[in-house]
Amino acid sequence: MQYLSTRDKTLRLSAAEAITMGLSRDGGLFTPVSFPNLGTLDLKTLCGMDYQRRAAYLMGKYLEQFRPEDLADFAARAYGPEQFDHPGVAPLRQVDGSTWCLELWHGPTSAFKDLALQMLPLLLSASLRKTGEEKTACILVATSGDTGKAAMEGFRDVPQTKILVFYPENGVSQIQKLQMVTQEGENVGVCAVRGNFDDAQNGVKRIFSDPAMREALAERGYFLSSANSINWGRILPQVVYYISAYCDLINGGQVKLGQMVNFCVPTGNFGNILACYYARKMGLPVGKLICASNRNDVLTDFIRTGVYDRNRPFHTTMSPSMDILISSNLERLLFDLSEWDDVLVRGCMDQLARSGRYEVGGELKARLQSLFYGGFCGEEETLETIRSLYRERGYLVDPHTAVAAKVLADYRRETGDAAPAVFASTASPYKFCDSVLTAIGVSPLPDSLERLDQLQAAAGVAAPARLASLRGKPVRFGQVSEREDMEGVVSAFLS
Ligand SMILES: *Cc1c(COP(=O)(O)O)cnc(C)c1O
Repeated sequence: MQYLSTRDKTLRLSAAEAITMGLSRDGGLFTPVSFPNLGTLDLKTLCGMDYQRRAAYLMGKYLEQFRPEDLADFAARAYGPEQFDHPGVAPLRQVDGSTWCLELWHGPTSAFKDLALQMLPLLLSASLRKTGEEKTACILVATSGDTGKAAMEGFRDVPQTKILVFYPENGVSQIQKLQMVTQEGENVGVCAVRGNFDDAQNGVKRIFSDPAMREALAERGYFLSSANSINWGRILPQVVYYISAYCDLINGGQVKLGQMVNFCVPTGNFGNILACYYARKMGLPVGKLICASNRNDVLTDFIRTGVYDRNRPFHTTMSPSMDILISSNLERLLFDLSEWDDVLVRGCMDQLARSGRYEVGGELKARLQSLFYGGFCGEEETLETIRSLYRERGYLVDPHTAVAAKVLADYRRETGDAAPAVFASTASPYKFCDSVLTAIGVSPLPDSLERLDQLQAAAGVAAPARLASLRGKPVRFGQVSEREDMEGVVSAFLS
């Protein structure tokens, strides 16, 4: 399988090259030239496999350059019992007669990012060997809270890599911050940025596209790579759990092979829901793709009107991983829906960079609207949803997941579409104790680790062991940078 850029469809790279580079030099995102079709036979075969084998089987369709036994080994390591505290890795939990929650937070950092970021370092290391790259990969990450931790956990002490994470100073939860500033590993670095997530992400993009920086780093034996969801090596492992969830529904007798299932995904950078779109493209019987946003509802408007406009107030919400006004992976969707119109994509992205706005119409917009439904959920409704799922179903969810549950309910009410549906649960409620406690009527204590105990007591379920073990860990990283100084931070990190 070869890969091209969303801004230059004549480009052809191998999977190993695409994963090593992360982002195309022209600013575009790497995308496979075709999407292998899953026949009924494939789905039946997958139903008989465990999660690890499903992952190796599906990734193999895109990574012919990799030996099947290597992929099987990677999947066994990335999704083994030491990493994931549930044997199903990404299990479904039934919420009512036609609704399931896909729990994606059983990994080491209690967020769905682990599904991709336990795998990416293995793919990247193998790609470095395949491409004969001798320089050290410096992974730059802008995080809205979960990616940074998950990426460092995946890359820590991986040979021939270093990883530096930027997070918005006041844009992450206390537990998320504590997870990052106490990160272990010889090759990791963490720095807060005075600004919001978009500022941090723009800073990283600026560094990536700066030729002088690239040259200076090359002289020191480094090249830059990305662990953000712009890297194909992150999207691909995410395609797996949608297909796996469908297989689990079949195995449980809850849907028949071929029956349509709707998926609702709490969305920020559009990586997770894009993976679901790709699963659909491969032939998975996905009905509607329901894109759930918080108060930062730029995607809701885009899906409803065709106008993408980031010129609006930025809200800091209780679902910070979705506090994003520039959803990078939307570029891959535009490329696909426009049938590879790289000129159109470049035009939209130029307009976005210049004026913060672009518009799509015609066929493209019609396709967008037939595939996707967009909705958003405010802060008060998020709390109400956490409360009602807890009271009525005995199920504790985090604020991001609550946003998805609410938008799914809105979709059903608005359209009358009662098809079986799965909503993605992207973080453990224990990562957001403050909001979750407030929602269920308990006043949170000031200390973030004491809140873990509070929530444990209220829920009667043990907090994930790795969150509980943050207690007493030494803080290793306290640096704060201005937005304009991120280059200097990178330079110092690699000196
Ligand atoms: C990253 C993240 C999201 C958003 O996912 P995207 O792939 O960026 O759309 C949602 N919820 C949680 C908890 C996250 O960490």
